Amino acid sequence: MLFFNNAATWLTMKLVTRAVKGTHDLFGDEIRFQRKILRNARQWLESAGAFELATPVFEFTEVFQRGVGQTTDIVQKEMYTFSDRAGRSITLRPEGTAGVIRAFIEHGMKVMPQPVRIWYAGPMFRAERPQKGRQRQFHQVGYEIIGSDSYVADAEAILLSYKILESLGLRQMRLRIGSVGDSQDRMKYNEYLNSVLTPHFDDLSTDSQRRLVSNPLRILDSKAPQDIALLQELDVKPLLEFMGEKSRKHFESVKKALEDLGIAYTIDSRIVRGLDYYAHTAWEIHHELLGSQSALGGGGRYDTLVETLGGAPSPGVGWALGLERVTLAMQAEGLSPDAASRPLIYIFPLAAEFAEKALLAAQSFWPQVSAQYSLSAKKPAKGLREAEKRGAKYAGIIGQDEAASEAITIKNLHTKEQKLLSLKDAAALLKGENNEAH
Ligand code: AMP
Repeated sequence: MLFFNNAATWLTMKLVTRAVKGTHDLFGDEIRFQRKILRNARQWLESAGAFELATPVFEFTEVFQRGVGQTTDIVQKEMYTFSDRAGRSITLRPEGTAGVIRAFIEHGMKVMPQPVRIWYAGPMFRAERPQKGRQRQFHQVGYEIIGSDSYVADAEAILLSYKILESLGLRQMRLRIGSVGDSQDRMKYNEYLNSVLTPHFDDLSTDSQRRLVSNPLRILDSKAPQDIALLQELDVKPLLEFMGEKSRKHFESVKKALEDLGIAYTIDSRIVRGLDYYAHTAWEIHHELLGSQSALGGGGRYDTLVETLGGAPSPGVGWALGLERVTLAMQAEGLSPDAASRPLIYIFPLAAEFAEKALLAAQSFWPQVSAQYSLSAKKPAKGLREAEKRGAKYAGIIGQDEAASEAITIKNLHTKEQKLLSLKDAAALLKGENNEAH
């Protein structure tokens, strides 16, 4: 019994001292990279008229089953689904679009001037095999244009994701674009796939055998070597060859618009994307320096999703970028995150009983001025060294005289100039410096 107790304790300690596999803590450089990506995304997207929407991280499971699609890998294998206390099936969102559309319908956004432009950001959850660039909790920023079937909306969506990535300094990106046609094109294509693949059923992976019955198109997305080899061997024709006049015209118009906007692309006839709701344009943006997980983001047009989730027909187009992947790409290109914040002033008390006065001084400078203070007493030489180590421009010293008179001795660490100032005058000086810096 004793042994069991110890083992149980050991196990518990192991569980409480590490994050769950496939999840990670964000801090330091990594969170500063994400902050920079989000800041640029917000600036670009809001300048284009988008408003931010934060949907809950969990929804009723049906939202994703219907919205993402029953036959997708995400719904079949990757969702974190559980029963809540009332026995309802709840799922942690594996992607953002289905929740955004649910909210669009719930809040009657169809009465707003159309199209509606929405952006979102936050954590997503997929039970995938963790590897570099693939997490079970990861973060996305996404954009949706709902209420237009114009090819120009497709071009706008692609343009904005590209501009955001470029604004971060990224250069080695490649846009791959394809079309999955409309439902009629896909029906014809699925029939074709069925006819060429059924005779080779035994050569397909188990997953693709299942897909051949439920949704043959998904087989093109398979990463299983035996599927890839078979498709190559049979020289399977791309969906693009099965597209009707309307789909072809839409695709040509998007390509022409991208050329006019100066965005280079390559045609990827095998692009299917993991989600069921796409129609017409589908694309991915890859980074040349990332390995097997090279997609920074992807998107596409979804013309029936709003109906599928119970709303009045409203065609849309959207994308999501993965923040962890964009971070890896920025690191690969030697780009920096936001600079770590440095204090303008570091304040230290010469005796422990003046620590509260150091806080009083610091708070008179906050929030316009970044001011840090020490809770413990420091000798002058040590305090000045500490101020330099933290990258402060000024050191603030609180001794007996300063504490008695609501004053502070301020030393400019560059010029070594030192003066005794009232807290009010010191605040004016520091706030002035901050304004100059901006
Ligand atoms: P998707 O929603 O599958 O189109 O994914 C859009 C983007 O999110 C991808 O291109 C990746 O950058 C990112 N992403 C998707 N799944 C993961 C994951 N498991 N871990 C990290 N990033 C991911």
